[in-house]
Amino acid sequence: MATRKKYIAGNWKMNKLTAEAVSLAEEIVEGAKEAKCKVMIAPPFVALSEVKKIVKGTNVILGAQNMANEKSGAHTGEVSIDMLKDVGVSVVIIGHSERRILYGETDALINSKILLAIKEKMNVIFCVGETLEEREAGKAFEVVTNQVINGLKDVTEKELSFVTIAYEPVWAIGTGKTATEKDADDVHKIIRELLEKLYSKELAQKMVIQYGGSVKPENAGALLAMENIDGALVGGASLKAEQFLAIINSVK
Ligand code: PEP
Repeated sequence: MATRKKYIAGNWKMNKLTAEAVSLAEEIVEGAKEAKCKVMIAPPFVALSEVKKIVKGTNVILGAQNMANEKSGAHTGEVSIDMLKDVGVSVVIIGHSERRILYGETDALINSKILLAIKEKMNVIFCVGETLEEREAGKAFEVVTNQVINGLKDVTEKELSFVTIAYEPVWAIGTGKTATEKDADDVHKIIRELLEKLYSKELAQKMVIQYGGSVKPENAGALLAMENIDGALVGGASLKAEQFLAIINSVK
């Protein structure tokens, strides 16, 4: 079986003014020096350049929370991939459920962003996950399967080296409810089996699949011990250095 390096990413969402972002980044950089996993932080766009100065030359990667699906032009309010590269971003979160639900992002739009990112050699954390309604209707596997198929449309096996998948059940995001380790691992396994069908066994074994949804120091160890869970995309707990570092340090 392939050994997959654990990957812990912090999505700061619409939190932290620049000075606060800088000091949080400083604490994370300091505390993550000996991390056994890959570490990423995704501050708000306007704090990226200042946070870049803090993470430069360290083992903490700079991420963005979203990007436009067009390279440039008349797209008021959008942020382009070149702008992200210009400030030192090397990975972008695409298809987060808040973008899908609050801002109407469709699978097709998400797919176009993923294709653009790959073309421009930008790494991607591609988020998928079902709502509570969908889970209760017994449709979790079907919803996630469709999101993966549609989001990765026209992405080749080779290009998937730019992609990490994050399974984030919408009902567990910011709610304090976590999927049980078994429920989460079951969906991760479905995703891995789907990748094997769509691509190859080798690719499926290599793919890093993060879990997201109220990951905290108290539950991180058990989640990360599951066979198919290769890391975490952390929201709330990534806003406090102590908690985020405890999650990082739960990777032995
Ligand atoms: C997220 O938004 O990606 C997330 C998982 O948030 P939280 O950890 O707060 O549930």
